[in-house]
Amino acid sequence: MMHKTLSQRILDESVDRLYEQVRQSVVVTFIAILLFASALYHTQPLLTLYWALGMLLHSFFHAQSVFGYPKVRHFHSTEHWLVREFSYTITLGMGWAIFTMIYFRPEATEDFYLMLVFIVAVVSGSVVTYAAVTLIYPVMVCFILIPLTLRLALTAPQHEHHVFLALGFLIYTGVLIKYHQQAHAISRKAIELYLQQGILLEELHRFKEQLQVSNEQLTVVNGHLQSALGRSHRLAFNDALTGCFNRRAFVEHLRAYASPYAQAELCVIMMDLDHFKRINDQKGHLFGDHVLKVLAARIQMQLRPDDILARYGGEEFVCLLPGTSLAEARDFAETIRKAVAGTPIRDDQHVQHITISMGVAKYLPPEDPQETVNRADQALYRAKREGRDRVVVT
Ligand code: GH3
Ligand code: MG
Ligand code: MG
Repeated sequence: MMHKTLSQRILDESVDRLYEQVRQSVVVTFIAILLFASALYHTQPLLTLYWALGMLLHSFFHAQSVFGYPKVRHFHSTEHWLVREFSYTITLGMGWAIFTMIYFRPEATEDFYLMLVFIVAVVSGSVVTYAAVTLIYPVMVCFILIPLTLRLALTAPQHEHHVFLALGFLIYTGVLIKYHQQAHAISRKAIELYLQQGILLEELHRFKEQLQVSNEQLTVVNGHLQSALGRSHRLAFNDALTGCFNRRAFVEHLRAYASPYAQAELCVIMMDLDHFKRINDQKGHLFGDHVLKVLAARIQMQLRPDDILARYGGEEFVCLLPGTSLAEARDFAETIRKAVAGTPIRDDQHVQHITISMGVAKYLPPEDPQETVNRADQALYRAKREGRDRVVVT
Protein backbone atom coordinates (compact mmCIF):
# COMPACT_ATOMS: atom_id res chain seq x y z
CA MET A 1 0.00 0.00 0.00
CA MET A 2 1.31 3.45 -0.93
CA HIS A 3 1.65 5.89 1.96
CA LYS A 4 0.65 9.48 1.30
CA THR A 5 2.70 12.33 2.68
CA LEU A 6 1.14 14.59 5.31
CA SER A 7 0.86 17.51 2.87
CA GLN A 8 -0.87 15.32 0.30
CA ARG A 9 -3.33 14.11 2.90
CA ILE A 10 -4.17 17.65 4.01
CA LEU A 11 -4.59 18.84 0.42
CA ASP A 12 -6.80 15.90 -0.43
CA GLU A 13 -9.01 16.52 2.57
CA SER A 14 -9.53 20.19 1.71
CA VAL A 15 -10.34 19.28 -1.87
CA ASP A 16 -12.81 16.61 -0.75
CA ARG A 17 -14.67 19.13 1.35
CA LEU A 18 -14.88 21.62 -1.49
CA TYR A 19 -15.94 18.83 -3.72
CA GLU A 20 -18.88 17.99 -1.46
CA GLN A 21 -20.23 21.44 -2.17
CA VAL A 22 -20.36 20.71 -5.85
CA ARG A 23 -22.93 17.99 -5.34
CA GLN A 24 -25.10 20.26 -3.20
CA SER A 25 -24.83 23.04 -5.75
CA VAL A 26 -26.24 20.75 -8.41
CA VAL A 27 -29.41 20.31 -6.33
CA VAL A 28 -29.79 24.05 -5.70
CA THR A 29 -29.27 24.94 -9.36
CA PHE A 30 -31.70 22.24 -10.47
CA ILE A 31 -34.48 23.59 -8.22
CA ALA A 32 -33.91 27.09 -9.59
CA ILE A 33 -34.08 25.83 -13.17
CA LEU A 34 -37.36 23.95 -12.52
CA LEU A 35 -38.94 26.97 -10.88
CA PHE A 36 -38.08 29.34 -13.70
CA ALA A 37 -38.92 26.90 -16.41
CA SER A 38 -42.39 26.32 -14.98
CA ALA A 39 -42.94 30.07 -14.73
CA LEU A 40 -42.00 30.69 -18.35
CA TYR A 41 -43.17 27.60 -20.17
CA HIS A 42 -46.69 28.78 -20.91
CA THR A 43 -45.50 32.04 -22.55
CA GLN A 44 -42.40 30.91 -24.52
CA PRO A 45 -42.33 27.12 -24.89
CA LEU A 46 -39.73 27.03 -27.69
CA LEU A 47 -37.36 29.46 -26.05
CA THR A 48 -37.73 27.60 -22.76
CA LEU A 49 -36.70 24.47 -24.58
CA TYR A 50 -33.60 26.18 -26.02
CA TRP A 51 -32.86 27.57 -22.64
CA ALA A 52 -33.17 24.16 -20.95
CA LEU A 53 -30.89 22.73 -23.67
CA GLY A 54 -28.33 25.50 -23.05
CA MET A 55 -28.56 24.87 -19.32
CA LEU A 56 -27.95 21.17 -19.86
CA LEU A 57 -24.90 21.83 -22.07
CA HIS A 58 -23.51 24.28 -19.58
CA SER A 59 -24.06 21.82 -16.73
CA PHE A 60 -22.43 19.09 -18.74
CA PHE A 61 -19.21 21.04 -19.43
CA HIS A 62 -19.21 22.43 -15.96
CA ALA A 63 -19.60 18.98 -14.39
CA GLN A 64 -16.96 17.66 -16.77
CA SER A 65 -14.47 20.15 -15.46
CA VAL A 66 -15.50 19.74 -11.81
CA PHE A 67 -15.61 15.96 -11.78
CA GLY A 68 -12.41 15.80 -13.77
CA TYR A 69 -10.73 17.50 -10.87
CA PRO A 70 -9.49 14.38 -9.04
CA LYS A 71 -7.43 13.53 -12.13
CA VAL A 72 -5.48 16.79 -11.94
CA ARG A 73 -5.00 16.65 -8.18
CA HIS A 74 -1.43 17.80 -7.91
CA PHE A 75 -0.03 21.23 -7.22
CA HIS A 76 0.56 22.74 -10.67
CA SER A 77 -2.54 21.41 -12.41
CA THR A 78 -4.64 22.44 -9.41
CA GLU A 79 -3.56 26.02 -9.86
CA HIS A 80 -4.36 26.01 -13.57
CA TRP A 81 -7.70 24.41 -12.90
CA LEU A 82 -8.66 27.02 -10.30
CA VAL A 83 -7.57 29.92 -12.54
CA ARG A 84 -9.61 28.56 -15.44
CA GLU A 85 -12.73 28.00 -13.36
CA PHE A 86 -12.54 31.38 -11.72
CA SER A 87 -12.15 33.15 -15.07
CA TYR A 88 -15.16 31.23 -16.29
CA THR A 89 -17.32 32.29 -13.33
CA ILE A 90 -16.19 35.89 -13.41
CA THR A 91 -16.77 36.20 -17.16
CA LEU A 92 -20.33 34.91 -16.80
CA GLY A 93 -20.99 37.20 -13.85
CA MET A 94 -19.69 40.20 -15.76
CA GLY A 95 -21.82 39.24 -18.74
CA TRP A 96 -24.86 39.09 -16.55
CA ALA A 97 -24.13 42.49 -14.98
CA ILE A 98 -23.72 44.14 -18.42
CA PHE A 99 -26.97 42.62 -19.66
CA THR A 100 -28.82 43.83 -16.59
CA MET A 101 -27.47 47.34 -16.93
CA ILE A 102 -28.37 47.63 -20.60
CA TYR A 103 -31.59 45.66 -20.93
CA PHE A 104 -33.37 45.45 -17.63
CA ARG A 105 -36.52 47.46 -18.21
CA PRO A 106 -40.06 46.85 -16.91
CA GLU A 107 -41.37 46.60 -20.47
CA ALA A 108 -38.73 44.02 -21.43
CA THR A 109 -39.88 41.03 -23.44
CA GLU A 110 -40.32 37.48 -22.26
CA ASP A 111 -37.17 36.56 -24.17
CA PHE A 112 -35.18 38.95 -22.10
CA TYR A 113 -36.40 37.43 -18.83
CA LEU A 114 -35.67 34.03 -20.13
CA MET A 115 -32.11 35.07 -20.89
CA LEU A 116 -31.86 36.79 -17.55
CA VAL A 117 -32.98 33.72 -15.64
CA PHE A 118 -30.63 31.58 -17.67
CA ILE A 119 -27.62 33.76 -16.82
CA VAL A 120 -28.58 34.05 -13.14
CA ALA A 121 -28.88 30.28 -12.91
CA VAL A 122 -25.53 29.77 -14.61
CA VAL A 123 -23.74 32.33 -12.49
CA SER A 124 -25.25 31.17 -9.22
CA GLY A 125 -24.47 27.57 -10.09
CA SER A 126 -20.85 28.52 -10.51
CA VAL A 127 -20.93 30.59 -7.35
CA VAL A 128 -22.32 27.73 -5.33
CA THR A 129 -19.67 25.46 -6.75
CA TYR A 130 -16.84 27.74 -5.70
CA ALA A 131 -18.36 28.85 -2.43
CA ALA A 132 -14.93 28.43 -0.84
CA VAL A 133 -14.48 32.12 -1.55
CA THR A 134 -17.35 33.06 0.74
CA LEU A 135 -17.36 36.69 -0.31
CA ILE A 136 -19.06 35.70 -3.56
CA TYR A 137 -22.22 34.70 -1.65
CA PRO A 138 -23.02 38.10 -0.10
CA VAL A 139 -22.07 39.80 -3.36
CA MET A 140 -24.39 37.52 -5.26
CA VAL A 141 -27.24 38.01 -2.78
CA CYS A 142 -26.90 41.78 -2.15
CA PHE A 143 -25.99 42.98 -5.60
CA ILE A 144 -27.84 40.58 -7.80
CA LEU A 145 -30.66 38.62 -6.24
CA ILE A 146 -32.19 41.18 -3.84
CA PRO A 147 -32.29 44.13 -6.31
CA LEU A 148 -33.66 41.85 -9.00
CA THR A 149 -36.35 40.44 -6.72
CA LEU A 150 -37.41 43.92 -5.56
CA ARG A 151 -37.51 45.20 -9.11
CA LEU A 152 -39.67 42.31 -10.25
CA ALA A 153 -41.98 42.65 -7.25
CA LEU A 154 -42.50 46.37 -7.93
CA THR A 155 -43.41 45.76 -11.56
CA ALA A 156 -45.66 42.81 -10.74
CA PRO A 157 -48.96 44.80 -11.00
CA GLN A 158 -48.21 45.50 -14.71
CA HIS A 159 -46.63 42.12 -15.52
CA GLU A 160 -48.33 39.22 -13.86
CA HIS A 161 -45.52 36.66 -14.43
CA HIS A 162 -43.14 38.91 -12.46
CA VAL A 163 -44.83 37.56 -9.36
CA PHE A 164 -43.56 34.08 -10.17
CA LEU A 165 -40.14 35.36 -11.00
CA ALA A 166 -39.90 37.43 -7.82
CA LEU A 167 -41.07 34.45 -5.79
CA GLY A 168 -38.51 32.23 -7.49
CA PHE A 169 -35.68 34.67 -6.80
CA LEU A 170 -36.87 35.06 -3.19
CA ILE A 171 -36.80 31.32 -2.51
CA TYR A 172 -33.50 31.05 -4.27
CA THR A 173 -32.05 33.88 -2.18
CA GLY A 174 -33.26 32.18 0.99
CA VAL A 175 -31.68 28.89 -0.03
CA LEU A 176 -28.41 30.64 -0.86
CA ILE A 177 -28.30 32.50 2.48
CA LYS A 178 -29.03 29.30 4.38
CA TYR A 179 -26.53 27.35 2.36
CA HIS A 180 -23.95 30.06 2.68
CA GLN A 181 -23.50 29.48 6.44
CA GLN A 182 -22.82 25.81 5.95
CA ALA A 183 -20.55 26.39 2.99
CA HIS A 184 -18.72 29.07 4.88
CA ALA A 185 -17.89 26.66 7.72
CA ILE A 186 -16.71 24.05 5.26
CA SER A 187 -14.62 26.45 3.23
CA ARG A 188 -13.09 27.96 6.36
CA LYS A 189 -12.03 24.51 7.42
CA ALA A 190 -10.62 23.90 3.95
CA ILE A 191 -8.66 27.14 3.96
CA GLU A 192 -7.45 26.44 7.50
CA LEU A 193 -6.22 23.06 6.39
CA TYR A 194 -4.54 24.58 3.38
CA LEU A 195 -2.74 27.10 5.58
CA GLN A 196 -1.85 24.40 8.07
CA GLN A 197 -0.30 22.47 5.25
CA GLY A 198 1.85 25.44 4.30
CA ILE A 199 2.90 25.99 7.91
CA LEU A 200 3.66 22.35 8.45
CA LEU A 201 5.74 22.21 5.31
CA GLU A 202 7.66 25.29 6.39
CA GLU A 203 8.22 23.81 9.84
CA LEU A 204 9.36 20.60 8.31
CA HIS A 205 11.74 22.45 6.03
CA ARG A 206 13.21 24.42 8.96
CA PHE A 207 13.48 21.30 11.03
CA LYS A 208 15.28 19.60 8.18
CA GLU A 209 17.76 22.46 7.90
CA GLN A 210 18.39 22.42 11.66
CA LEU A 211 18.88 18.71 11.49
CA GLN A 212 21.41 19.15 8.72
CA VAL A 213 23.37 21.71 10.76
CA SER A 214 23.29 19.49 13.86
CA ASN A 215 24.34 16.59 11.73
CA GLU A 216 27.36 18.49 10.40
CA GLN A 217 28.29 19.56 13.93
CA LEU A 218 27.90 16.01 15.10
CA THR A 219 30.18 14.81 12.33
CA VAL A 220 32.88 17.25 13.46
CA VAL A 221 32.46 16.29 17.12
CA ASN A 222 32.48 12.66 16.13
CA GLY A 223 35.77 13.18 14.31
CA HIS A 224 37.28 14.78 17.43
CA LEU A 225 35.94 11.98 19.57
CA GLN A 226 37.32 9.36 17.23
CA SER A 227 40.80 10.84 17.29
CA ALA A 228 40.61 11.33 21.07
CA LEU A 229 39.51 7.74 21.38
CA GLY A 230 42.41 6.67 19.19
CA ARG A 231 44.82 8.72 21.30
CA SER A 232 43.51 7.35 24.59
CA HIS A 233 43.57 3.86 23.15
CA ARG A 234 47.23 4.33 22.18
CA LEU A 235 47.97 5.75 25.64
CA ALA A 236 46.21 2.87 27.34
CA PHE A 237 47.71 0.05 25.26
CA ASN A 238 50.99 1.30 23.84
CA ASP A 239 54.35 1.98 25.40
CA ALA A 240 55.31 5.63 25.00
CA LEU A 241 59.05 5.04 24.48
CA THR A 242 59.14 2.13 22.06
CA GLY A 243 55.67 2.35 20.50
CA CYS A 244 55.04 -1.38 20.95
CA PHE A 245 52.27 -2.75 23.18
CA ASN A 246 52.49 -2.25 26.97
CA ARG A 247 52.01 -4.84 29.66
CA ARG A 248 48.27 -4.26 29.94
CA ALA A 249 47.78 -4.86 26.21
CA PHE A 250 49.91 -7.98 26.45
CA VAL A 251 47.78 -9.40 29.26
CA GLU A 252 44.61 -8.72 27.27
CA HIS A 253 46.00 -10.40 24.19
CA LEU A 254 47.21 -13.31 26.26
CA ARG A 255 43.73 -13.83 27.77
CA ALA A 256 42.17 -13.54 24.32
CA TYR A 257 44.51 -16.07 22.66
CA ALA A 258 44.73 -18.53 25.53
CA SER A 259 41.61 -20.53 26.04
CA PRO A 260 41.42 -23.87 27.83
CA TYR A 261 39.80 -25.22 24.62
CA ALA A 262 42.38 -23.71 22.26
CA GLN A 263 43.40 -26.12 19.50
CA ALA A 264 46.32 -24.08 18.14
CA GLU A 265 49.61 -23.96 20.00
CA LEU A 266 50.66 -20.79 21.76
CA CYS A 267 54.13 -19.80 22.98
CA VAL A 268 55.56 -16.99 25.09
CA ILE A 269 59.13 -15.61 24.93
CA MET A 270 60.37 -13.44 27.80
CA MET A 271 63.43 -11.32 26.91
CA ASP A 272 65.74 -9.17 29.04
CA LEU A 273 68.58 -6.91 27.94
CA ASP A 274 71.87 -8.08 29.41
CA HIS A 275 73.75 -5.68 31.68
CA PHE A 276 71.56 -2.78 30.71
CA LYS A 277 72.33 -1.01 33.99
CA ARG A 278 75.93 -0.86 32.90
CA ILE A 279 75.00 0.77 29.56
CA ASN A 280 72.90 3.33 31.37
CA ASP A 281 75.69 4.03 33.84
CA GLN A 282 78.42 4.31 31.23
CA LYS A 283 76.62 6.05 28.36
CA GLY A 284 73.74 7.80 30.03
CA HIS A 285 69.99 7.25 30.25
CA LEU A 286 69.28 8.98 26.94
CA PHE A 287 71.42 6.52 25.07
CA GLY A 288 69.81 3.79 27.17
CA ASP A 289 66.40 4.92 25.87
CA HIS A 290 67.74 4.88 22.33
CA VAL A 291 68.94 1.29 22.84
CA LEU A 292 65.48 0.24 24.03
CA LYS A 293 63.83 1.83 20.99
CA VAL A 294 66.21 0.22 18.51
CA LEU A 295 65.93 -3.13 20.26
CA ALA A 296 62.10 -3.03 20.09
CA ALA A 297 62.23 -2.14 16.39
CA ARG A 298 64.68 -4.97 15.65
CA ILE A 299 62.54 -7.56 17.41
CA GLN A 300 59.42 -6.21 15.72
CA MET A 301 61.05 -6.68 12.32
CA GLN A 302 61.37 -10.41 12.93
CA LEU A 303 57.70 -10.88 13.89
CA ARG A 304 54.84 -12.20 11.78
CA PRO A 305 51.60 -10.22 11.50
CA ASP A 306 49.78 -12.14 14.25
CA ASP A 307 52.67 -12.08 16.75
CA ILE A 308 52.47 -9.66 19.66
CA LEU A 309 55.45 -7.76 21.08
CA ALA A 310 55.07 -5.86 24.36
CA ARG A 311 57.36 -4.04 26.72
CA TYR A 312 56.82 -5.99 29.93
CA GLY A 313 58.92 -3.85 32.27
CA GLY A 314 61.99 -1.57 32.14
CA GLU A 315 64.27 -3.47 29.73
CA GLU A 316 62.15 -6.59 29.59
CA PHE A 317 60.11 -7.50 26.50
CA VAL A 318 57.64 -10.31 25.94
CA CYS A 319 56.53 -12.01 22.73
CA LEU A 320 53.26 -13.86 22.20
CA LEU A 321 53.39 -16.30 19.30
CA PRO A 322 50.03 -17.79 18.31
CA GLY A 323 49.97 -20.99 16.25
CA THR A 324 53.60 -21.78 17.10
CA SER A 325 55.09 -24.97 18.50
CA LEU A 326 57.73 -24.90 21.23
CA ALA A 327 60.47 -25.90 18.77
CA GLU A 328 59.43 -23.18 16.33
CA ALA A 329 59.36 -20.66 19.17
CA ARG A 330 62.89 -21.64 20.24
CA ASP A 331 64.18 -21.22 16.65
CA PHE A 332 62.38 -17.93 16.43
CA ALA A 333 63.97 -16.75 19.70
CA GLU A 334 67.36 -17.82 18.41
CA THR A 335 66.85 -15.76 15.23
CA ILE A 336 65.97 -12.71 17.31
CA ARG A 337 68.93 -13.23 19.62
CA LYS A 338 71.33 -13.40 16.66
CA ALA A 339 69.77 -10.37 14.97
CA VAL A 340 70.19 -8.35 18.18
CA ALA A 341 73.69 -9.49 18.94
CA GLY A 342 74.84 -9.32 15.31
CA THR A 343 74.74 -5.55 14.89
CA PRO A 344 75.86 -3.02 17.49
CA ILE A 345 73.57 -0.12 18.32
CA ARG A 346 74.94 3.33 17.62
CA ASP A 347 74.03 6.97 17.80
CA ASP A 348 76.13 10.07 17.06
CA GLN A 349 78.47 9.50 19.97
CA HIS A 350 78.20 5.92 21.07
CA VAL A 351 78.46 2.43 19.73
CA GLN A 352 77.13 -0.38 21.86
CA HIS A 353 77.15 -4.11 21.35
CA ILE A 354 74.16 -5.62 23.11
CA THR A 355 72.86 -9.09 23.86
CA ILE A 356 69.59 -10.41 25.21
CA SER A 357 68.64 -13.45 27.26
CA MET A 358 65.39 -15.29 26.58
CA GLY A 359 63.09 -17.82 28.22
CA VAL A 360 60.57 -19.73 26.10
CA ALA A 361 57.45 -21.50 27.39
CA LYS A 362 54.43 -23.12 25.77
CA TYR A 363 50.86 -22.61 26.95
CA LEU A 364 49.54 -25.87 28.36
CA PRO A 365 45.77 -25.70 28.79
CA PRO A 366 44.00 -25.77 31.14
CA GLU A 367 46.68 -23.85 33.04
CA ASP A 368 46.24 -20.14 33.71
CA PRO A 369 48.10 -18.30 30.91
CA GLN A 370 49.89 -16.25 33.57
CA GLU A 371 51.46 -19.54 34.64
CA THR A 372 52.99 -19.82 31.14
CA VAL A 373 54.48 -16.34 31.55
CA ASN A 374 55.93 -17.32 34.94
CA ARG A 375 57.58 -20.40 33.44
CA ALA A 376 59.04 -18.31 30.61
CA ASP A 377 60.34 -15.89 33.25
CA GLN A 378 62.00 -18.71 35.18
CA ALA A 379 63.62 -19.91 31.96
CA LEU A 380 64.86 -16.36 31.38
CA TYR A 381 66.50 -16.34 34.81
CA ARG A 382 68.12 -19.64 34.00
CA ALA A 383 69.50 -18.08 30.81
CA LYS A 384 70.90 -15.25 32.91
CA ARG A 385 72.45 -17.65 35.39
CA GLU A 386 73.93 -19.78 32.65
CA GLY A 387 75.83 -16.82 31.24
CA ARG A 388 73.35 -14.57 29.32
CA ASP A 389 73.02 -14.11 25.50
CA ARG A 390 71.14 -17.35 25.19
CA VAL A 391 67.74 -19.00 24.84
CA VAL A 392 66.39 -21.41 27.45
CA VAL A 393 63.25 -23.48 26.87
CA THR A 394 61.10 -24.94 29.60
P1 GH3 B 1 70.82 -8.20 33.80
O1 GH3 B 1 71.68 -8.60 32.69
O2 GH3 B 1 70.89 -9.08 34.99
O3 GH3 B 1 69.43 -8.02 33.37
O4 GH3 B 1 71.35 -6.82 34.29
P2 GH3 B 1 70.70 -5.46 34.09
O5 GH3 B 1 71.64 -4.37 34.42
O6 GH3 B 1 70.06 -5.35 32.73
O7 GH3 B 1 69.50 -5.53 35.14
P3 GH3 B 1 69.01 -4.58 36.26
O8 GH3 B 1 67.62 -5.01 36.63
O9 GH3 B 1 70.01 -4.49 37.33
O10 GH3 B 1 68.96 -3.15 35.63
C1 GH3 B 1 67.93 -2.77 34.77
C2 GH3 B 1 68.12 -1.33 34.48
O11 GH3 B 1 67.30 -0.84 33.44
C3 GH3 B 1 67.82 -0.45 35.67
C4 GH3 B 1 67.07 0.75 35.12
O12 GH3 B 1 67.72 2.00 35.41
C5 GH3 B 1 67.11 0.54 33.65
N1 GH3 B 1 65.92 1.00 33.03
C6 GH3 B 1 64.66 0.53 33.27
N2 GH3 B 1 63.78 1.23 32.47
C7 GH3 B 1 64.51 2.11 31.74
C8 GH3 B 1 64.19 3.09 30.74
O13 GH3 B 1 63.04 3.29 30.36
N3 GH3 B 1 65.22 3.80 30.19
C9 GH3 B 1 66.50 3.63 30.56
N4 GH3 B 1 67.44 4.36 30.00
N5 GH3 B 1 66.80 2.74 31.53
C10 GH3 B 1 65.88 1.98 32.10
MG1 MG C 1 65.59 -6.76 33.96
MG1 MG D 1 68.54 -6.70 32.14
